[in-house]
Amino acid sequence: MIVEVEMRAFGKGQIRKVTIPSEESEGTDSELLERVFHYGQNDFQPQRIPSVSVGDVVRLRGKRWYTDNIGFKEVVDGFRPPHCPRCFAKAEDSICNTCQYEYP
Ligand SMILES: [Zn+2]
Repeated sequence: MIVEVEMRAFGKGQIRKVTIPSEESEGTDSELLERVFHYGQNDFQPQRIPSVSVGDVVRLRGKRWYTDNIGFKEVVDGFRPPHCPRCFAKAEDSICNTCQYEYP
């Protein structure tokens, strides 16, 4: 299966397509999200864009998941992590005032 990741942290909003091997394509959302993170690293699937990082958003099974320091959080209306994932400034607006990270 191919999973799209919104590269918000360091990828300028590009979409990275992460391939999950077919024998690993079943499982719970959290199992699949861990695999997306793993296979989204350039060490495993080299691409000319950055590896999946904290602050990126995974599109999986009709939901969107924010990549956090540990695990993933579903992006629902009003979702906002407390700090910018790139520069750790306090989250106040929809775009970080310090580094221009766009919150999902
Ligand atoms: Zn920031």
